[in-house]
Parts: sequence; C-alpha cells; structure tokens
Amino acid sequence: MKYIFFIGLLNIFLIGQAICDDKNIPIAITTWWFYNATIKAWDVLKEGGTALDAIEQGATVCEVQQCDGTVGYGGSPDEDGETTLDALIMDGKTMNVGAVGALRRIKSAISVARHVMERTKHSFLVGELATQFAVQMGFKEEPLTTQQSKQMWMKWHNEDNCQPNFWMNVKPDPSKYCGPYSTLDNFRRESPASNVKVDRYNHDTIGMVAIDGNGDVAAGTSTNGARFKIPGRIGDSPIPGSGAYADNSVGGAAATGDGDVMLRFLPSFLAVEEMRRGATPTDAARTAVLRIAAHYEDFMGAVVALKNDGQYGAACHGMDTFPFVVQDNTKESFRVETVQCLK
Ligand code: ASP
Repeated sequence: MKYIFFIGLLNIFLIGQAICDDKNIPIAITTWWFYNATIKAWDVLKEGGTALDAIEQGATVCEVQQCDGTVGYGGSPDEDGETTLDALIMDGKTMNVGAVGALRRIKSAISVARHVMERTKHSFLVGELATQFAVQMGFKEEPLTTQQSKQMWMKWHNEDNCQPNFWMNVKPDPSKYCGPYSTLDNFRRESPASNVKVDRYNHDTIGMVAIDGNGDVAAGTSTNGARFKIPGRIGDSPIPGSGAYADNSVGGAAATGDGDVMLRFLPSFLAVEEMRRGATPTDAARTAVLRIAAHYEDFMGAVVALKNDGQYGAACHGMDTFPFVVQDNTKESFRVETVQCLK
C-alpha cells in the first residue's frame, strides 16, 4: 500500500516536472520584422538575463538603428518638424510600469521609461518635464531631428500643403490648407478612424514581450509615433494595457497600428485577459483586434500575444499580412512568422 502511494506521488511529481519542462521559455517575441532587436533580447535571455533587461536592451537596438524610421530619433516629425518619443516597459512580476510620452531631445526612450519605473513611484511622465527627469537621471540631451526628418517635414509643409494631417472640424479646411486652425462652429460629431493612411513607414512601433528562464514576463514598446501628428499627441504605445501589458500569471501582449484608435480599446490588456480565460494566444489576439474592428472597420493594427508557457500567436487587421519575430530554444536562430490579417 505504502509502495503504491509512493508511486502515485512520484507520478504526480513527474507529470508536474513534464509540464514545467514543456514550457517554451525563455522566449522573446517582437512586432514587425525587427529581428535585430529580437536577437539582442534573446542574447540577454540566453545568458540568464531578466525579461526586463531583454525588453530594454532589445528595444534600445531599434531606437539606435531607427528601425523603419518609426522607432527612435529622426523619424515621424510632428507638425512643427520635431521628433518626440513614446515608450513603455512593464514588469509582469511586480505589475510595475514605467512610461514616457512625447519625450523631447532624449534618444533612449525605453531606458527613460525604465527609470520612471525603477527610480520613481510614478508610472508615466510626459513632454518637456519628462526630458528634465531624464537629464536629472543622467541621460544626454540632444536634438532628435535629422537631415532626413527635416527634409520630410519641409516636403510635407512646403510642397504638400500639410497633407495628410490629423485635424477635423476646423478652419481653414485642413484637407486643403496648413494651419494655424481655429474651431469651426457647425460640425458633425463623429469619431472617425484616422484618414491618414497608416503604413510601414509612417506608423510602426516596436512592441516586445519576453519571458526569462525564471518564468518572469515583461513587455514594452518604443516608437516615434505617427508622422505629422499634432504636437503633444501621444498614441497607444506608452499606455499600459494598450501598447503592451504583462502579467506573470498569464503572459503578455503588445500592439502596433493606428494608436489613436487602438488606445480606446486596451487591446494588449484584452489579449492577456482572454488568455487568462483560457484562450490560445492566437485567439486572444484575434479577439482584441476584432473588438476594435467592430467599431472601426478600416482600422490598421496588430497584436502579438505570448502565454507564460511560451505559446504565442498574433492577429492583424487592415493589411494583408503581419510579420513578427520569435526567438526561443526550439531553433538555432530567430524566425520571422507571418499571419494573414482578418481583413
Ligand atoms: N501605434 C503607434 C502610434 O500610433 C504607431 C504604430 O504602431 O503603428 O503611435
């Protein structure tokens, strides 16, 4: 009898072990084809580093390399020609968050976000005052404008009559003329998705989720936002639950796309909550995307989701396909995977 009991216990132990061993961790997953960032994150994880370090160092690669011109300095000038940065980092172990929005003249947005998380009791700092914080923390202040971003802005302003832009219900007619604008008295109350065509080069974000060898989950984003945005605009990327979300007890998610619309639906939070309810990562990402599509049928965006056992998936809308990069122990190298978009 004792012997049978012992075998039973051993079985429970072995099955438990098998489930643990089945976990596909560590793992890093990144939006778009930003594989250099993924490789960096993976290097950190492989060496036994934390998921938070993987996110910070991975996203930093994109900030330095100006991935697609939509991450880091010198991209997406606003209406005044200035590049500003948004970034978020979230620790799924402590549920702590650090974020910066409309950060001016500092290149390392994700690292400033991490300083907000680890050096303050706040979660989110914005604009000029976030810059002051960064300088106090030892970050170097330098212009984020480049020759290329200056030329992009000059063409938009001087040749294209400030088209496209993000104004509505103002005069003079923003679809024809530059500002300054003032309010139009009689206007239709509607809440359209942006009529600025969102594509790879005017609107991308690096969104990352990582799980380290301890099973700790972290997520983060970094972006220079939407090209020709109204100064002061912050998109979805630095908003916890919208741009990214992480919770050790479930997993994490990150989003990219038309941030003005996406932030209204907290898609990363929704994807994580769907996984909590038992959905696969792919189904969770689909639910998050379809929730937005139910209200904005033309919106463009994508969500990647990673469960704390290392299963992952993605869903997208408003483009043909969406690429994302994964690196884990199952293959020698990173791989770019592609999902067919729901519409
Ligand atoms: N979501 C970012 C923003 O709207 C851009 C993107 O990911 O496409 O600022």
